[in-house]
Amino acid sequence: MKFFLVFSLALLSIVFASDNLDSHLLMYGDDVGLLCNSWRVAGEANNLSPWKKVPEECRGYVKDYMTSRAYVLDLQMVANEAVGYARGIELGDDGNDVWVFDVDETLLSNLPYYAHHGYGYQVFNHGLFDKWVENGTAPVIESSLKLYEEVFRLGFKVFLLTGRSERHRNITVENLRNAGFMNWDKLILRDVEDYDKSATTYKSEKRSEMVKEGYRVLGNSGDQWSDLLGAAISIRSFKLPNPMYYIA
Ligand SMILES: [Mg+2]
Repeated sequence: MKFFLVFSLALLSIVFASDNLDSHLLMYGDDVGLLCNSWRVAGEANNLSPWKKVPEECRGYVKDYMTSRAYVLDLQMVANEAVGYARGIELGDDGNDVWVFDVDETLLSNLPYYAHHGYGYQVFNHGLFDKWVENGTAPVIESSLKLYEEVFRLGFKVFLLTGRSERHRNITVENLRNAGFMNWDKLILRDVEDYDKSATTYKSEKRSEMVKEGYRVLGNSGDQWSDLLGAAISIRSFKLPNPMYYIA
């Protein structure tokens, strides 16, 4: 009995060692695809919070997903649901109904960068990523542009709330415009005093300021849970897929 208990505890510790998926393979045999699919779904549902990088075993899986039609369809599904919700809302006549969008992996895709950095297999490198941002060539996420244009047409105020630095304002504006995004009402970037804050704290504070100013945050689109959770949460939040990285 004692042996059984010790053995069970050891097995449990293997199963719950989320940083090391090797041990999970004991359960799944050779079916790494199934394992990585479970890993991705758990990540999207925020059950792995926080995770540092794509597990070794899932390197190929994440690359295949990110470059496949499945990723595009998943993005479209989120955008279509958001459009349906937005169309069903009766907006106030004071112009204070807001839709918040994150930027990276929400409006703009950094896939060309991540293609050269292991699709999330390499630990995030701020310096290299900043250089990529400064190129201003991140392509549009088409389904998000459609949602963006629709909420704009419906009469929402559109606020862009990004973890990018204020010093990247000009290049971000240029990149967004080149990708087809026009006429947003606010573009909020991280100022110096926000550098040490978690994304959740920083974005919560900014949404709380919106609410204080009389805005109603009715919709929020982001690829990270830290775009969506915290204070002054939107009435509806739409989580875009992103199995490449996790930002707390
Ligand atoms: Mg993002």
